[in-house]
Amino acid sequence: MTKSEQIMELEHHYGAHNYHPLPVVLAKGEGAFVWDVEGKRYFDFLSAYSAVNQGHCHPKIVNALIEQAKTMTLTSRAFFNDCLGPYEKFVTEYFGFDKVLPMNTGAEADETALKLIRKWAYMKKGVAENQAKIIVCNDNFHGRTISIISMSTDPDAYTGFGPYTPGFIKIPYNDIPALEKALEDPTVAGFLVEPIQGEAGVYVPDAGYLKKAFDLCKAKNVLFVADEVQTGIARTGKLLACDHEGVHPDILILGKALSGGVIPVSAVLANDEIMLCIKPGEHGSTFGGNPLAAKVAMAALQVVTDEKLAEKAEYLGNIFREEIRKIDSEMIELVRGKGLLNAIIIKPKNGKEAWDVCLKMAENGLLAKPTHGHIIRFAPPLIITEAQLREAVEIIKKSILAF
Ligand code: PLP
Repeated sequence: MTKSEQIMELEHHYGAHNYHPLPVVLAKGEGAFVWDVEGKRYFDFLSAYSAVNQGHCHPKIVNALIEQAKTMTLTSRAFFNDCLGPYEKFVTEYFGFDKVLPMNTGAEADETALKLIRKWAYMKKGVAENQAKIIVCNDNFHGRTISIISMSTDPDAYTGFGPYTPGFIKIPYNDIPALEKALEDPTVAGFLVEPIQGEAGVYVPDAGYLKKAFDLCKAKNVLFVADEVQTGIARTGKLLACDHEGVHPDILILGKALSGGVIPVSAVLANDEIMLCIKPGEHGSTFGGNPLAAKVAMAALQVVTDEKLAEKAEYLGNIFREEIRKIDSEMIELVRGKGLLNAIIIKPKNGKEAWDVCLKMAENGLLAKPTHGHIIRFAPPLIITEAQLREAVEIIKKSILAF
């Protein structure tokens, strides 16, 4: 058995079977590359689902982690710590909100936003107790908790995990008339939406959708809540995907790249009118807002600014889509995306599907993962250079043309 095979066997034997990874065992990462335990190098075109936007083991982020880890890692929120306040000032100014509520994972941040919407509905909008509703979109992905899977329309996500949390209205994504109709219900308090549906397969809505949806929400005194856990922090060619349409959400949900993939750091941002609806003791997390997270997140966001990652994503994304569209293969049904969040829809050929293409790309030195069977997402770290991107495109081309 190779070392990789031994490790995969260990995971299979001792770990829960809740994932189906590509058969690659990674041991090291640097910039846009990762290496497996046998020492083979790969381009990372998943970036841990867009958590590693700043590149693997970015020295400035890792140094912030190491320096803080030597001093103080966790206080809980039972006491103040000397890193959280400065981080809260930094992150709220960075994204333009009055307040932040720090959490750890994306799912926790989404849960926080759901609680905030409901609390605001009762305290400010005047919805009768326990009646608040939240509009969500079909094919959404917001995480894995019970309430979040209650919003899901993906049977794999929800089947067998009922009973479900009530209070959600599900409408088609990218459908303004459906939103307009759902907003007629006066108990609706929020509209939770991904500006681009990442897990659904990088589904980009029509131009103008977010702005129209935002305006409709405003007209009905409903909170427009953007889940930018995957699309935020420069991934789509702007700091936030909502920036493409000049929309400033009422509640912004961030995670993943907020730490550059170093430790779990997530956040919910909102103005006082909304955020102050939650009072002491009503929400929190032992690790949320810990000193390590505060220092790491500040370093991670500073890298995004210093290295102009949004501009890079915009520029390189255009090259990526242009080059992929030139590949002459009937397996490529469609190429879509924004910035460096892209996907290829694969048409099976001779029984070969997206999974087979991913295995071939791995063999050729590039890692990407299918989503929903026939779609491959391509999301490299944003620090990738143009030369590296072009080299990666050649690998993708060679792999697809092999079928
Ligand atoms: N929201 C969106 C849009 C996501 O893409 C994800 C994860 O992929 C999440 C929330 C959940 O984040 P986490 O896996 O950190 O809980």
